[in-house]
Amino acid sequence: TYVVTENCIACKFTDCVEVCPVDCFYEGETMLVIHPDHCIDCGVCEPECPAGAIQPDTEPDSQKWVDLNRGFANQW
Ligand code: SF4
Repeated sequence: TYVVTENCIACKFTDCVEVCPVDCFYEGETMLVIHPDHCIDCGVCEPECPAGAIQPDTEPDSQKWVDLNRGFANQW
């Protein structure tokens, strides 16, 4: 899965939302998030983010972001 990280906070560009083929972006309290169970790992959103906030969960610091993304996504 891909996850949204701290560069998204207070940014809220929505370029990522527009390109996601499975509509798995959700609006969190302070940032957009990706539902980790619905993301199909296509990767098209990562280069679209003007803030560089999206990363694959294979990055070392990703687990906390996966948890945070899931938490916000599950509020919907
Ligand atoms: Fe959507 Fe693909 Fe980004 Fe996952 S990697 S959030 S499926 S655009």
